[in-house]
Amino acid sequence: MALDTSAPVLVAGGGGFIGGALAAELLKRGFSDVRVADVKPVDRWYQVHDAADNRVLDLSEKADAYEAAEGRQYIFNLAADMGGMGFIENNKAACMLSVLPTTFMLMAARDQGAERLFYASSACVYPGERQDSPEIVALREAEAYPADPEDGYGWEKLFGERMARHFSEDYALKSRIARYHNVYGPYGTWDGGREKAPAAICRKVADAVLSGTGRIEIWGDGQQTRSFMYIDDCVEGTLRLTASDVEEPLNIGSSELVTINQLVDIVEGFEGVTLERDYKLDAPQGVRGRNSDNALIQEKLGWEPSIPLREGMRKTYDWIKQQMLEKRGAGVSA
Ligand code: NAD
Repeated sequence: MALDTSAPVLVAGGGGFIGGALAAELLKRGFSDVRVADVKPVDRWYQVHDAADNRVLDLSEKADAYEAAEGRQYIFNLAADMGGMGFIENNKAACMLSVLPTTFMLMAARDQGAERLFYASSACVYPGERQDSPEIVALREAEAYPADPEDGYGWEKLFGERMARHFSEDYALKSRIARYHNVYGPYGTWDGGREKAPAAICRKVADAVLSGTGRIEIWGDGQQTRSFMYIDDCVEGTLRLTASDVEEPLNIGSSELVTINQLVDIVEGFEGVTLERDYKLDAPQGVRGRNSDNALIQEKLGWEPSIPLREGMRKTYDWIKQQMLEKRGAGVSA
């Protein structure tokens, strides 16, 4: 089915990176009643859309979650306390507290009669032992069990997935669950400690170029492998999955595997520089290797993320460098 553009929609956590891009796309596609809710003050939202009904609400409070969901037919729940490895390895309790918005959004969706709820899960639900070599084979959805997810953040996501599934089985709510693999792009976090590898590498390369240090610090030995999905693919996959009748969790991720060193090569190439690499071996680096197996999403949706890494990184690098130049111009060190 196609999503109905006249349906009232909620983007929960829409002051964040993916939610901001999703709300933009919904408005672009003609959705006429888009509500965006986030706990942060609006001036800290990554994107603010004047055409949306923007509300500052704490979805870990039941009353706020019910206000957000009131009258909504489709709910996209992206609200979570999260960040890159540096954040999730050191903030396990905070990550697990996202169980509150996860729970209250499901209850509010059920009680307010929402038709569909999209839940943003993560590749961090997959067992660590499947990811301890850089030559890893891609992760298939069925491999999430027996469960041994990323401590803290991954456990909350696995629990959230399961609760979303049971709400679908027991009540009239249709829940749709994505396991996002690393998402990057413009308007993402690029400094402050919650940024992920693609944005951090863009910032570090731009910084080395702008300040002329010629050096870059890399977390780990650079041989760890990952795939990175450009934000436009993430939003497209989210909308396709939400519209579908797929009841099981689906990977939404790129299957273009790179080492962190190769990712640095790509970004250096934009500036035509070769930087001296300082490997910080005791830094948080997460699993050794991770890739998305896209057989199931291909089978179920006839689609998979396909925007080439180099193309997406170019847009991301240009945006981050611009942000840094603006900060420097305003006299703030970046
Ligand atoms: P983000 O941090 O930019 O956005 C999440 C937003 O949720 C933030 O703006 C935050 O303020 C908001 N939030 C947190 N707690 C809230 C609460 N109690 N009430 C209201 N709002 C609250 O993160 P993102 O990258 O946009 O991620 C969106 C979702 O996708 C998250 O659930 C995340 O776990 C998941 N995910 C993201 C990635 C990725 O690579 N970005 C990968 C896997 C899964």
